[in-house]
Amino acid sequence: MSPVNVRIANHLPMSTADGPFQASATRSATYNVMIVDSAAQIASALARELTGRKAFLVTDETVLGLHAQALAEALRCGGTETRLKAFPAGEGSKQLGTACRLLDWLAESDMRRRDVLVPVGGGVVCDTAGWAASVYMRGISYVNVPTTLMAQVDAAIGGKVGVDHSRAKNLIGAFHQPQAVMTCLAYLDTLDAREMRNGLAEVVKKASIASPALFRYLEQHWRQVLSRDRAALRELVRTASSIKIRLIADDPYEKDLRRPLNFGHTVGHALETVTGYHIVAHGEAVSVGMAVAVRIAASRGILNEAVAARITGLLQRIGLPVAVDDLAAPVCTDSLMAALDKIRHIRDGSLRFVLPTSLGEVQICDDVTDDEVKAALRQRALVAVTR
Ligand code: NAD
Repeated sequence: MSPVNVRIANHLPMSTADGPFQASATRSATYNVMIVDSAAQIASALARELTGRKAFLVTDETVLGLHAQALAEALRCGGTETRLKAFPAGEGSKQLGTACRLLDWLAESDMRRRDVLVPVGGGVVCDTAGWAASVYMRGISYVNVPTTLMAQVDAAIGGKVGVDHSRAKNLIGAFHQPQAVMTCLAYLDTLDAREMRNGLAEVVKKASIASPALFRYLEQHWRQVLSRDRAALRELVRTASSIKIRLIADDPYEKDLRRPLNFGHTVGHALETVTGYHIVAHGEAVSVGMAVAVRIAASRGILNEAVAARITGLLQRIGLPVAVDDLAAPVCTDSLMAALDKIRHIRDGSLRFVLPTSLGEVQICDDVTDDEVKAALRQRALVAVTR
């Protein structure tokens, strides 16, 4: 490269200011979310996105043999220099130790500043590797290739990256936007039914807070989605992804914590913390959290019983838990209330609940009492459901 001469226009004078200095920094990001049907399409789209840069694929040990190795091979065949690293599957890996091992791997590798990290996996891989990307060399580019429904409709989009802490979920994290999100529907063919339902919990959430049309679609097509009907999946993933993009567009760095997207997450996060992050899946915890919020809203009289029964009934028909007794792990109410207290403390003393008031409308409340939460936790489902 030939030398570049740099001259600062109007050479900078000596400073005369004696008050505080103002510094400013703004950053905006736009990126494409691409949804394709086949693994071959993802490989060629990713190769185009990388153009001359090395790909550092990060995955978990389950996705490694199912999809990531083949993707790495396809990239190499197409001439992209590719490295590949896997860590054990599951929420238990979403922790600082895993992220540090990824940073060690990058530091010992031949990665350059312009190369790209490619998380290939579910929300755990996207969150953990995305966080490593946010801190390595003060931020490197990454392209998410989500392989679970949960990651395709939610975790891979929005740039929220991070790992769990034993005291609270996602306590260590950052905002770091991806360079692109590349979703392949064929990857869902190998996902088991529990993980499909897990992802559907986040779709029910989006539908409940923002889209009666998607809610009706789910009521009519949840069976096709669970059986991997490609057309139904395409419709669902495209709509749910675009709802997420719309809902975060005005506040991408979550300055305002009053987010409708947190529907079900107050109790959901606490449930994940008290069950140790590995028995109860994120979507299952959120499903119980949504059912609890629905029961609080119904008993406050701000949500009519028919809509409450529709939301809870849809979760149940899909096969998602709606009460703590439905979970695979025993939950001690006192521990749960203590975990909620920790969230309250982190959020300056208030526990924020997103309560639905009808399909597509919510109220965000700071005044939900512990007694209301406990009563809603004790209450069983609102309706008996035929599947
Ligand atoms: P996960 O990443 O643990 O994946 C679930 C399981 O599915 C794992 O065992 C994984 O190995 C396996 N798997 C992944 N892809 C597969 C495939 N194609 N075929 C077969 N098996 C496959 O869990 P998840 O539900 O994808 O994500 C949950 C995590 O995402 C939570 O930590 C949650 O907090 C996070 N999340 C983050 C955001 C965000 O905005 N950053 C949003 C939602 C959820």
